[in-house]
This record gives sequence, C-alpha cells and structure tokens, in this order.
Amino acid sequence: GNHLFDLVRAHLPADPGGRTFIESVPDGTRYSYADLLARSAAYADALTRLGVRPGDRVAVQVEKSAQVIFLYLGAVRAGAVFLPLNTAYTGPEIAYFLGDAEPALFVCDPARETDLSAIAREAGVAQVRTLGGDGRGSMAEAADAASTDFADRARGPDDLAAILYTSGTTGRSKGAMLSHDNLVSNALTLAGYWHFTDRDVLIHALPVFHTHGLFVATNIVLATGGTMLFLPRLDARRILELMPRATAMMGVPTFYTRLLKEPGLTREATANIRLFVSGSAPLLAETHREWSQATGHAILERYGMTETNMNTSNPYEGARRAGTVGFPLPGVSLRVVDPETGAPLGPEEVGMIEVKGPNVFQGYWRMPEKTAAEFKVDGFFVTGDLGKVDRDGYVHIVGRGKDLIITGGYNVYPKEIETEIDALPGVVESAVIGLAHPDFGEGVTAVVVAGENAPDEAGILAALEERLAKYKCPKRVLFAEDLPRNAMGKVQKNVLRDTHAGLYAGAAKG
Ligand code: ATP
Ligand code: MG
Repeated sequence: GNHLFDLVRAHLPADPGGRTFIESVPDGTRYSYADLLARSAAYADALTRLGVRPGDRVAVQVEKSAQVIFLYLGAVRAGAVFLPLNTAYTGPEIAYFLGDAEPALFVCDPARETDLSAIAREAGVAQVRTLGGDGRGSMAEAADAASTDFADRARGPDDLAAILYTSGTTGRSKGAMLSHDNLVSNALTLAGYWHFTDRDVLIHALPVFHTHGLFVATNIVLATGGTMLFLPRLDARRILELMPRATAMMGVPTFYTRLLKEPGLTREATANIRLFVSGSAPLLAETHREWSQATGHAILERYGMTETNMNTSNPYEGARRAGTVGFPLPGVSLRVVDPETGAPLGPEEVGMIEVKGPNVFQGYWRMPEKTAAEFKVDGFFVTGDLGKVDRDGYVHIVGRGKDLIITGGYNVYPKEIETEIDALPGVVESAVIGLAHPDFGEGVTAVVVAGENAPDEAGILAALEERLAKYKCPKRVLFAEDLPRNAMGKVQKNVLRDTHAGLYAGAAKG
C-alpha cells in the first residue's frame, strides 16, 4: 500500500524486539522495532481518544527524542497530519503557526506549557498536551494509558501525512503539504540509491522538524529496518566517538567543517563508515577536498527542498563531483529554463530549476494562489533555485532566484563572486547581496567575515578587479563577525539585505 506506516510494516526486521530502531546518545537508551510498533499504536490510540480525526493537524514543538518519532508515526497511523515546528520558535512565532495551521491538538515541551497553552488557546487550538525529551508529560501519559493494538486509519496515497514549514531562509515560512505517497516514494528511492539495508547504523544529529532529519534520514531507516543513533544536536567530538560503530552519517555542511577541526578525524576513525551525505545548503568544494584528504571518503552531496523531498543526488558508485548535486533521482524529471520566457535551456546554461515527480508536494497550505503560481501547466514545480546541468549531466546549484542581483541591467550570480572572495588569503567566508542603488538598480555588495591577515576593503576590491568583469565587482565590501544563519546553517541573505538596506541611499551621481 501507499500508507506511510505500510512502508514500516513491509520492512520490519524479522525479530522486531531484538533490533534497535533508535539508540539515544549519550544516555544509551535503546528503542526496538517492537517499541516502535507498540508506542506509535499507543500514540495513535491516544490521539484518537483525544478527538483527533483523519485529516486533522497535530502540531508539535518538542525537543528531539525517540518519542517525537513515535508521535509522528502515531499521528500518521491515526490518519492525522503531523506538523512539527522548529524548537527555536518563540511565543509570537508559535502563535502565527498555530493560527495558520489550526491544529486539533498542540503538543509542546512541559517547560513551556504555561506560556504556550495560553497562546494556543488564543489561536483557537482546543487541546494542548506536553511531551518532554525524557518521554514524560501529559501526551506520554495519555499514550501510557492507551491501547498498543491500533487499527491504522486507511488513507489514500494523495492524502496528507504531514505539513512541514519551509526553513524561512528567503522570507516567511510556508506550509508544504506532503502526501503519504510523496514520503513513501522518496524514502524507497533514496534507500535504494544509497544502498541502505537493515545492517546500517546511521548517525543522526539533525533536528527532526525539517525534511532532512525527519524524512530523508528517519524514513530511509524506516524503509530498511536499520538503526539510528540519535544525538540531540551537532556534537563533533561525540560523533567521532560513534563512528566505529556506525555505517553512515547525514549532515549539513557545518557538520563537515566542524568535524574537520577535530584532531581525531582520520582514515582509521572513519573506516567503518560507508557513506557520508551532505545537503540543505551548498557544500564548499574545499570542504569536499579536505574531507577526502583527511578520511579517504568522498562526501555525497544531494539537493532537495521541503516542497519536493529530494530531487538529485551524486552517484553511490561513480564520481561524486564536488560543487555539484549530482543527477536527478530515478522518477524525478528536472529541467533548467529561462526564468523570463520559460524556454528550456541547454547544457551549461544557467536558469531556473524546475522539477516534477512523485516526490513533489501537494501545494502550500492555505496559499492557493502561491501554489498555482509555482506550478507550470505541464505539472513542473518552479523551485526558485537557479542552476545548470553540465555536459556530463551533473546538476549545479548556482543560488536562489531571489538572491540574483541585477545591476545596471546585468545578471550577477552571488556564488561566483563569493567563490573568488573566499579564495583570498585570510577570508573565512562571505555573502554577496544586491542592495538598492540609485544608479544601478542594485549595487553588488560583499559582506565578509575576515580572519587574520585578510585584506581590507581596498585590497579585496583590487584582487576582485583582476579576476572579474567590472559589473560583477562589489561597489562596497562590509565586514562582519559572522553571517546570520538559520537552524540548518543556511545564510539568511534577507536579514543582510534588511540590515544594510540604506547603504547606497544618496549615492546617485546625479
Ligand atoms: P524558504 O523556502 O522558507 O525560504 P528554504 O528554501 O531554505 O526556506 P528548505 O526547504 O529547508 O527551506 O530548503 C530548500 C533549499 O535549500 C533549496 O531550495 C536550496 O536552495 C537549498 N539547498 C538544499 N540542498 C542544497 C545543496 N546541496 N546545495 C545548495 N543548496 C541546497
Ligand atoms: Mg525554499
């Protein structure tokens, strides 16, 4: 069937009680596949008794734990729509999301119950329950008292299993509606493409409120009967300790740059691992190179988004090319088109990336106009990402459409300038943005995090003028202690644009 929980059933280990599904680190508590079956049934039964009906949203903002995964599966088994919220969201943000999602039930951390239940009530949410990282709270108690024998509510393949809000990198987060089939098809595709089996032990230090940690990582393991080592957050030293008994790791680029600073990162330390995956943000070619020098492993970079699950991946066998996100996954059609005319572009030509396939979502929650605007008549979804396909078929992400700078009528792709700046001695990282400019429309502007011995503004500009066409060179270089990032380590260029909005006010030549 196409029910997400049928996927779990179809790949259960022969001895569910004898196989670990999640081991939580550092306390060492193990949850078997028998625990998964019983506990998800108990949550499904408890939710049903609390009045949650098929199609209802169950909103959840709790610390990462095995219980959240059981609650996710319980909600899905009850026919409800799981709706996880970023644990960093403040009261006013939660108020917005609850108002938008109108869940039948909101589950929050016990420590925030007083503050958030008032907010939830005001947003019209009928019920609030709690669930702590330690597995306590009123939602856990309701499950303790519930039946572990639950008949899953039948759902069609196009019925929703989850609503996931996008990361909010380019603006306000949008609710992406994901069907059972969206999740099941992508989990099966990735598990096959990346050769996952029940012998895999996955290091999981990602949050479980994003597509990466919740769907890519967790659903692959569910689709193969493997084991996850659950860390509450990125802890490079601890990850290194776990490597001898793990076979795979999924991380965002920050995982790799942090681990590269650990003196214990060697070939021997990583010898048991068969696969390192990176995604959610661009992996610098330099990180890719340093990692293979230190460990002998080529990081496998893939590309996806909340709305589409995973679209592309570098090959499991065959060359994993640094600076690329590999090939469209089986079943995914990908094309690059001229953003203005929609005409398909050839190899090496940069344009808008569009995708189509069973992985692509059902639309934005309560945003029918936005949904209609982002789908072409032939069913392709406009990702908002600019990129190209090279002569060998590898897909390159060049940046976000929203970050494209148009200066004096020329298109400037920030990544090209960032790559040049990052290569200068002493530069830690950079972000290139467009700011309103009276003469040029937008002025190319660099924000640079400088380490020791980095050149000053004039030095950077002089170096860039030797390498780049004049129109691509920044009008100004600003320095910052660090770049604003969201929970997935993505640079928030809208924050930089807001901060420096007035930089060129009054700069007109007249
Ligand atoms: P919002 O849509 O709210 O602005 P967001 O796009 O960051 O936030 P996500 O859905 O979590 O939210 O992220 C998807 C985006 O992440 C992609 O559209 C792409 O821009 C970027 N991305 C993902 N993987 C990669 C990768 N390997 N290389 C470059 N960019 C990537
Ligand atoms: Mg997005």
